[in-house]
Amino acid sequence: MTKYVYSFSEGTKEMKSLLGGKGANLAEMSIIGLPVPPGFTITTQACTDYYKQNKELWSELLDEIKSKLAELEQTMGKKLGDKSNPLLVSVRSGAVFSMPGMMDTILNLGLNDESVEGIATAMNNPRLAYDSYRRFIQMFADVAMDVPKYKFEAILERTKEQKGYHYDTELSADDLKALVAEFKAVYKLEIGQDFPSDPFEQLLMAVRAVFNSWNNPRAITYRRLNDIPHDLGTAVNVQSMVFGNTGDKSGTGVAFTRNPSTGENKLFGEYLINAQGEDVVAGIRTPQSIDTLKDNMPAVYDEFIRITQLLEDHYKDMQDIEFTVEDEKLYILQTRNGKRTSQAAVNVAVDMVEEGRISKEEAVLRIEPERVNELLHPKFEDKALKAAHLLAKGLPASPGAAAGKVYFNAEDCVAANSKGERTLLVRLETSPEDIEGMVAAEGILTARGGMTSHAAVVARGMGKCCVAGCGSIRVDERAGFFKVGDITVKEGDYISLDGSTGSVYLGEVERVEPKLSGKFETLMTWVDGMRRLKVRTNADTPKDARLAVDFGAEGIGLCRTEHMFFEAERIPAVREMILAQSLEARMTALAKLLPMQREDFIGIFQAMGERAVTIRLLDPPLHEFLPREEKDIIELAKAMSIHVDDLKARVEELQEFNPMLGHRGCRLAVTYPEIYAMQAQAIIEGAIAVKKEGIDVKPEIMIPLIGSVKELAYVKSIVTEVADDIIAKSDVKLEYLVGTMIEIPRAAITADEIAKEAEFFSFGTNDLTQMGFGFSRDDANKFLGEYEEKGILEKDPFQVLDQAGIGKLVKMGCELGRSTNPHLHLGICGEHGGEPSSVEFCHRIGLDYVSCSPFRVPVARIAAAHAALKEKSGEQVRDK
Ligand code: PEP
Ligand code: MG
Repeated sequence: MTKYVYSFSEGTKEMKSLLGGKGANLAEMSIIGLPVPPGFTITTQACTDYYKQNKELWSELLDEIKSKLAELEQTMGKKLGDKSNPLLVSVRSGAVFSMPGMMDTILNLGLNDESVEGIATAMNNPRLAYDSYRRFIQMFADVAMDVPKYKFEAILERTKEQKGYHYDTELSADDLKALVAEFKAVYKLEIGQDFPSDPFEQLLMAVRAVFNSWNNPRAITYRRLNDIPHDLGTAVNVQSMVFGNTGDKSGTGVAFTRNPSTGENKLFGEYLINAQGEDVVAGIRTPQSIDTLKDNMPAVYDEFIRITQLLEDHYKDMQDIEFTVEDEKLYILQTRNGKRTSQAAVNVAVDMVEEGRISKEEAVLRIEPERVNELLHPKFEDKALKAAHLLAKGLPASPGAAAGKVYFNAEDCVAANSKGERTLLVRLETSPEDIEGMVAAEGILTARGGMTSHAAVVARGMGKCCVAGCGSIRVDERAGFFKVGDITVKEGDYISLDGSTGSVYLGEVERVEPKLSGKFETLMTWVDGMRRLKVRTNADTPKDARLAVDFGAEGIGLCRTEHMFFEAERIPAVREMILAQSLEARMTALAKLLPMQREDFIGIFQAMGERAVTIRLLDPPLHEFLPREEKDIIELAKAMSIHVDDLKARVEELQEFNPMLGHRGCRLAVTYPEIYAMQAQAIIEGAIAVKKEGIDVKPEIMIPLIGSVKELAYVKSIVTEVADDIIAKSDVKLEYLVGTMIEIPRAAITADEIAKEAEFFSFGTNDLTQMGFGFSRDDANKFLGEYEEKGILEKDPFQVLDQAGIGKLVKMGCELGRSTNPHLHLGICGEHGGEPSSVEFCHRIGLDYVSCSPFRVPVARIAAAHAALKEKSGEQVRDK
């Protein structure tokens, strides 16, 4: 028979998939003898079975819960709902991967009108009893039954105001008792039923609520954003309560064994005296730094330090620990590997290698490739920052420099972002409902909350800039503005946030590219020693090329020459070339372009030194260059000395219904060989000039959009004829390669033939995805969202390589190509070349390199190292 419920003493940290992260760690801590309040975990399998049973709890499960509860009651010497000395429990969700957005916690479960008196007597503290009761009603109603929190908070605020109190702690037992009655009335009004008084019924309702929360929209969004499978289910942890709110020798807090923002090896945390857990996270009162615990309760502090060190040693990673002190007795309620910024992730990983805790391989595996991207992003320019108007200072909750227009709720942020605006989300405090807005925003600013508030934790997890607890701003979310002194910042106004200092600036402060150094470099040296796959970049200008080299690019895998044609002073000559009615007229236009192209290539060769440079000949549909505006047509007609009407007719003639499948790529060279001839000339002459400067260049000339070997043979002959002729006439010995992109399915299928004419292949997975799926690259996003929502596609195939289909074409292309040309060099230059799961795939199928945009180069380097390490350890690499 399946076992669905485990006491903490029955589990271990290895049982994460069954007990969830929280449950497995509670079990582990219990086993190693830490002071964990006893309890039990209902498994993730119970959750998945609950969905199979049409969301009903079945009798075997109920029996098991009852029997574990009885065990717990026996251990504690207390009974749930008892009139004299009742057991109270907390109920928390706990998935395999920690997931904000799901039901989090219900505390004080088991209270009713009778047991509350029991608590009052047993603890000799009526205030505590009624404070716990009113919290329970509010939390149960909010997290289990979806009654909005503010309905209760409004009553609490009104009572405080009437009584002239400032803090919740000033409420007396009688005040709290009156609140309980009012809260119950709200519950009845909202739900249409009395607040449940039977503690076992409360427990089952809470268990059901946890299971249901697995599939609430926020949780689904979070899983989608974080690649967490939807079928894992969540566990439920039922734990006996300890009280942080019994008085001044009690409290509750959260601590990280190292600083989660910077990675500094120093305990970092905060706590509140006389409070329960949710007070810290909700950020209603501003907590004290953990250091002050030393003075408040020295013995508890020493014990806590001992335990934090023990936990870090045990888990060999930075821990995020929740604790409660009840009358000077310390309890540990949770430990988990702490969420951290990417900067902290790198620093902690490198430090832990140096401390001898983990291996270099483990350190590298701990760095999520995607997240290093955050380290490469801009910082505020020093001078601009000094000149900027400092509006306010909050807590430096998550580093980064963000500037954008302010919006006061998640929906507006998402809407503005989809129009291409850079946005900042400004809130009193955030909650899981804000998740989509937080994703859309460049940065987050909250008026309330500490370093462990929702905004801070989630922003750090996402690597987003966040300033939290900025108490000097007065936010009116509904009216859409905030005020600092007499300055008002309205919706749509620009501000800038510095998440490393907590500063908030008026207006948009200029930003600059960062320099990588220190521990990041150390880590990247390890990364490079572990990977086989080379990493090149897609760059069209010397500036981009230099940036990519700084980021570790080992060559250029794709230089799109058409980008050079778009510059303002060139476009007239390009248009002349396209619209020319005769060879002679076209040659005149090409002659104007030749020196410019030559200079482009010289600049790029110089920037790349002796690294490989792959230059792709002209690719896009010609209509992209055609003049649209009347005034451009008139000007061009003048320059070409032809009649405006003739020019218009020619423009018309060149329009295509399906330009992406039209006259583009190598097809242009079939009809106008002189275009590729000019480009080949510019490349070879540029290379000769640079070679004369002492740089040993070996250009790789790439022909796009090939579909058949004969097409390649023909186009290649245009290139080689020009190139060989120039080299023969020069006094320089220059080698060059000619290869092709594989981006049309037919090319992949006939790659054995094509490889006979090519020295290298570069898979253009953007077009290969477009043509393989038959999805227009430019329009598919109009419907792909629905495909993802309806589970037809797991991911946007233009971002994440569809390994099963398009990937199969790539694999086939490699195998067929190498079967006839064993020396064929293989790479990829579609956007997928910088996406971690696609990079891992490229490693597995044996490509020589991936090529991606400069900022993705470090991401690809780490992903390539992960692929090699996983292969070595025999781990099945995740297929997406
Ligand atoms: C591709 O198709 O994958 C490619 C790299 O070329 P482009 O994006 O320029 O079409
Ligand atoms: Mg392409």
